[in-house]
Amino acid sequence: MTWILWTLLLFVIVFVRYLLFSGGYHYLFRIKLRDRFRHRIFHYEPERGAQVRREIYRSLLVSLIFAVFGIGMLWLWQAGYTKIYLDPSERSYWWMLISPLAFIFAQETYYYWTHRWMHRPGIYDLVHRWHHESIETTAWTAFSFHPTEAVIQAIFLPVFVLLVPIQTYIFLSLLGLMTLSATINHAGIEVFPISWARIPVLRNLIGATHHDLHHKQARTNYGLYLTFWDEWMGTENKSYRKKRS
Ligand SMILES: [Zn+2]
Ligand SMILES: [Zn+2]
Repeated sequence: MTWILWTLLLFVIVFVRYLLFSGGYHYLFRIKLRDRFRHRIFHYEPERGAQVRREIYRSLLVSLIFAVFGIGMLWLWQAGYTKIYLDPSERSYWWMLISPLAFIFAQETYYYWTHRWMHRPGIYDLVHRWHHESIETTAWTAFSFHPTEAVIQAIFLPVFVLLVPIQTYIFLSLLGLMTLSATINHAGIEVFPISWARIPVLRNLIGATHHDLHHKQARTNYGLYLTFWDEWMGTENKSYRKKRS
C-alpha cells in the first residue's frame, strides 16, 4: 500500500513539474519575449486548444508511467542493486566529469536507434504516431507520447544505473536536462543563438529547428541531444544547416 501512495505522490510531482516547466517556458518565450524572438518562432496558432488539451492528457498518462519507473528505481536503489552513490569521494573525481558524458552518449545512442525503429511501418502506428500527431509542436508536446513509447524511453534509466556508477546529484541533474531538452526541442521557437552554428560542439546541439524538421518531415533528424548519429548515419535533414546559418 505504501508503495502505491509513493507512486501516486511521485506521479503528482512529475505531472506538476511538467505543467510548470512547459507552461513557464511557453509563457517566457512565446508571450513575454515574443517580440525579441519573433523571427525565430515557427508557425503556430495560439488558439490550437484542442491539440494542447490532447498533449496534456497524454502527458498525464506518461507522468504515471515515469512515476512507476521512478519508484521502481527507488526500490532498486534501496535494495542496493543500483550503482548510484552519494559520496563523491567513493569514486575518482574524474568519474564525476566522465559519467554524465557517458550517460548522454549512451542515452543518445539508445534514443536514436529506438527512435528509428519506432518509425518502421507497423511499429509506428502502434507506438510513435501519438507523438507525431503534433506536427506544429508546442512546449506541451514535450511529454506527449503513447504509453508504450514512454516505457521504451524510461527503460533506459534503470538499466543505466544498474550498470554504470553515477553520483546521486549528477543523476538528478541529468533527469532535469531531459526535461529541459524535451521542452526546448518542442516549444516551436529556436532559443539557441545563430552564432552557435559555427562553434564546435555547440553546433551539434539539437534544438527546436532540428526537431521541428523531424515533426514536419519524419524521415530525418532522429537525434535527442546531439546531431552526431544523424550525421554519421546520413539521416540529417538537408535543409537543417541552411536554416541554422
Ligand atoms: Zn518530438
Ligand atoms: Zn519520430
